[in-house]
Amino acid sequence: MSTLGIKAHKLLIVKQQSGKSHVAGLFLGGGSGHMSRAITCLLHHHDQAIVVLALLVCTVSSLSTFLQLQRARECVAARRPLWITSAAITAGGGVWSTHFISMIAFQSATSLGFGRLLTAMSATVAICAFAIAFARLARSRQPVVIGLSGAIATLGIAGMHLVGMAAVTSPQILGTSARSLSVASLLAWIALTGAFAAFTRCNGLKRIFLPAIALVVATIVIHFTAMSATTMSDHEAATAIANAGHAWLLAWIAAATLLLITLTAAASLIDRFLTDLRGFANATSEGLLISRDGKVIEVNEQACTLLGVQRAAILGTSAIEWFVIDQPVLSAAAKSEVSHAQVRGTAVPDQLIELSSRTIEYRGKASTVLAIRDLTEAARAQRAIEHLASHDPLTGLVNRAAFDLALREAVRSGGQFALLAVDLDRFKAVNDVFGHAAGDEVLERVAAILDKAVRAQDLVARVGGDEFIVLQRDISSTDDARRLASRIIAQFTEEMSPARDPMAVGCSLGVVTYPRDGTDPESLRHNADVALYRAKHSGRGTASFFDEEMDRAARDRRSLEHELRHAVCREELALVYQPLVSTASGQIAGYEALLRWRHPERGQVPPDIFIPVAEEAGTILALGEWVLRRACSEAATWPSHLTVAVNVSAVQLRVPALAEAVRLALHDTGLEPSRLELEITETALLRDRELTLQTLRQIRAMGVRISMDDFGTGYSSLSNLRHFPFDKLKIDKSFVSAMLDDDAARSIVRAIAGLGKGLNLPVVAEGVETEAQHKMVAEEGCPQAQGYYFGTALSKPVHVIPEPETASKRA
Ligand code: C2E
Ligand code: CA
Ligand code: CA
Repeated sequence: MSTLGIKAHKLLIVKQQSGKSHVAGLFLGGGSGHMSRAITCLLHHHDQAIVVLALLVCTVSSLSTFLQLQRARECVAARRPLWITSAAITAGGGVWSTHFISMIAFQSATSLGFGRLLTAMSATVAICAFAIAFARLARSRQPVVIGLSGAIATLGIAGMHLVGMAAVTSPQILGTSARSLSVASLLAWIALTGAFAAFTRCNGLKRIFLPAIALVVATIVIHFTAMSATTMSDHEAATAIANAGHAWLLAWIAAATLLLITLTAAASLIDRFLTDLRGFANATSEGLLISRDGKVIEVNEQACTLLGVQRAAILGTSAIEWFVIDQPVLSAAAKSEVSHAQVRGTAVPDQLIELSSRTIEYRGKASTVLAIRDLTEAARAQRAIEHLASHDPLTGLVNRAAFDLALREAVRSGGQFALLAVDLDRFKAVNDVFGHAAGDEVLERVAAILDKAVRAQDLVARVGGDEFIVLQRDISSTDDARRLASRIIAQFTEEMSPARDPMAVGCSLGVVTYPRDGTDPESLRHNADVALYRAKHSGRGTASFFDEEMDRAARDRRSLEHELRHAVCREELALVYQPLVSTASGQIAGYEALLRWRHPERGQVPPDIFIPVAEEAGTILALGEWVLRRACSEAATWPSHLTVAVNVSAVQLRVPALAEAVRLALHDTGLEPSRLELEITETALLRDRELTLQTLRQIRAMGVRISMDDFGTGYSSLSNLRHFPFDKLKIDKSFVSAMLDDDAARSIVRAIAGLGKGLNLPVVAEGVETEAQHKMVAEEGCPQAQGYYFGTALSKPVHVIPEPETASKRA
């Protein structure tokens, strides 16, 4: 009965012999007795001191096993098998040593002998089983896998035990209770499954200690339970104690195992530390090269990437040779230095790297660390930002801020230079008619033309919507600037021909030279603008050079502009009314309101002078509104058949508020809308034509009449008359005054009068000064006339035409 297990299970080689003895005392066979027997076996049949040693080995190996498994989990995939194998060797070796040390602790140890092959095989069984279990565990955390791994490990321990027992040569093992071993294995399986579960689920120290304890328990349970159920042949031997030879063997096994286990545990810790350290070195974005005695001894991944070579290619070389350094400041003496460099033979065109060197202690000796920081991207971004800040994004030319800096620098350096202010003619029209995209395209073309005309050292800037400026450096005389100006104009004429290209623009140039026309940037810019203004007004497509006289005129215009702002409040402005007379009846039909400015010092300033100034400064808006209200309130006092004509500037028409101003003026003064006439010139229809016509339609819808003034001059076109239903045509006085002697003028007057008749438009002849002219315009069919012949303009009209003689005298 006592030996049945071995036979039945064919696991253990059992040599049936006589004189058998139960080493563990009474073998009762009941399942509940297994553990108590094991404890009895452990306490009474083992050398306690050696058991403690076995326990120590088991504990240390268990801890080391899970430390290494932990490492296997943390390391890169490539190294995982290595750590699993090492953990399996530690676990299997630990269980094996525990077993054999315990065997020696068994009190029959004096007579124990071991077969080498089987002993070695028993270790292999344990190691392989653990290796399989650990490998499975590393792949999955599922409970089934954990249980399976536990089972494999249990089989490993039990197998090791059985093979290990078979290795015993003397005394002969007679049998091991299969039942006891099964029960022990079940307990061990539970412990090991628990161990693996704890390892996969717990954190911190628990994940090492809990599984280690469980592994120790599993090992002990199997060993001592099995031992307690083992039958051996030599009863006497059971009382013997270990002799000196076995003590030495014992010491060797224990020491070697402990050493091995401790070393692997240490290796796992060191490996972790080193891996972390390398990870740390690679975690930085800087490349690091550590050199000693002029040779690189360590390098991180970033440095390899930056240098574009493998680590092995860098180790052993001289760090400095990899770089082209701006200032060679990297000396061993300095503690920390920074310099800019490029990687030697780099393919990156504008590469910029920063090298900083420091001396540190590495592997116990003073070494130089070269930190490489790639600034290429940062430098590129910096350049892009600087470019954006100083350039016009559309044309790529320098912007106003950057130009101002360059101009200041040019003045500071003191050499002669020229400034050419460029203004585009017709640009606004192109932009309005063809749209902004076309406008942008024109600006780009202009930028290209200017760029082509200048030399490399000159600077072209875009300083406003359609304003450009050229800084011509290092000139020897004004002639250089003159030549550049004509080159620019010629270039424009060549590339921008309105005949061929509807989007073509022209240019006007205002030129100043330093130091002749100004000694500071502000006065130079100002004088260039003055010259430009003159160029624009003296015919387009010209260059105008600044001179003193020009400056005086400009200053004069500005002071006039300034004084005009206050003229209304100072009551220097007044309206006079010139009669419009019916040529047939000689009756006054109405009056044209004309603005007068009596300046306290300048005397009478003619409207031909101050109106353009007011238009340019924008004062005309307030001025025009004042005229409108004043004329309406005056006309409201006249007999109701008399009309009043008010001149409206093109600038006023460009603001949509005009219609509202007219409505308010009529409303506030109570004047009938049919008694108000607004006179506009054709120039008003040149710009923003649609907007202007829309405003005119609104005004006309109120019942106010619209006259076309100065017809025949400027941009007369029949299409204007067709596009808008004017109520009256006023023939310019230049034709009337020329009529008597000039047949051409007379035929124009006749044609305009005919046109009026055709379009059912009353025609007014302006500037009638003599009776002959009066007769003539009447003959040509003009229903109304206006001029000194009928009387000068009065601030309070009397509504009666004076005698002609008196009238001509007054004129
Ligand atoms: P306009 O609208 O053509 O006005 C007629 C101009 O011819 C007036 O000059 C008038 O004095 C002048 N004139 C009248 N009869 C004769 C004549 O028989 N012979 C000659 N040679 N000239 C005659 P004025 O008052 O100097 O005005 C000049 C221009 O100033 C006006 O030309 C008009 O365009 C503008 N203007 C005058 N007042 C205003 C105003 O209140 N608003 C606006 N926007 N423009 C005004
Ligand atoms: Ca007029
Ligand atoms: Ca006129």
